[in-house]
Amino acid sequence: VYILISAIALITLLLSVIFYIGKHFITALDESEKKLVKLATTDPLSGLLNRREGIRRFQVEISRSFREKLPLSILLIDIDFLKRVNDNFGHQTGDEAIGMVADTLVTTLRDYDIVCRYGGEEYLVILPATGLAKALEAAERIRKVVEDEVIQSRTGDQINLTVSCGVASLQTTDSLDSLVYRADNALYIAKEEGRNQVQSLE
Ligand code: GH3
Ligand code: MG
Ligand code: MG
Repeated sequence: VYILISAIALITLLLSVIFYIGKHFITALDESEKKLVKLATTDPLSGLLNRREGIRRFQVEISRSFREKLPLSILLIDIDFLKRVNDNFGHQTGDEAIGMVADTLVTTLRDYDIVCRYGGEEYLVILPATGLAKALEAAERIRKVVEDEVIQSRTGDQINLTVSCGVASLQTTDSLDSLVYRADNALYIAKEEGRNQVQSLE
């Protein structure tokens, strides 16, 4: 009986140790996986989704909009004259400007809007369940917030930024590319018309 009780106690102890180690191992694996996913889907400079992940989510939202017959709009936003900021205050300050506009986008938009860094100083915003009128309002709100903000750079410089924005809304005949194409053309018009403004194309 004594030997039997000792054996059971030993096996229980062994199983507990194995369970404990296994649990820790799985938690560590989970955390590593989360870190890897974050690395693969976000842009380190701005903290936003990267272009590839933004486009993946964009495609999901387009499919959802068609399926549920909901509107969808996008904003293509480009910082005005960022090259001048780089030239006058240094590349580091240019990077800060990109981060600051990213923060403004995240805080100005709704939780379920999707914001990604689409290019160097260009952002793509996907506004699910949003028609053109509401998208224009959101774009104008962003434009105004950026215009009113003053960046205090780490080098001590005070910088005023503006952005230009192209807006387009999903039509039944659209694909991802045709929708981006219209937003891009609208952005081009905003730049041509003098920047710091919002333009849209039906
Ligand atoms: P605009 O868009 O108003 O026409 O003028 P711009 O000066 O912003 O545009 P342009 O296309 O002439 O140049 C884009 C600039 O953005 C030049 C490039 O150095 C800068 N840029 C792009 N990506 C980054 C980045 O990651 N960091 C910094 N600091 N600058 C960047
Ligand atoms: Mg620019
Ligand atoms: Mg650009």
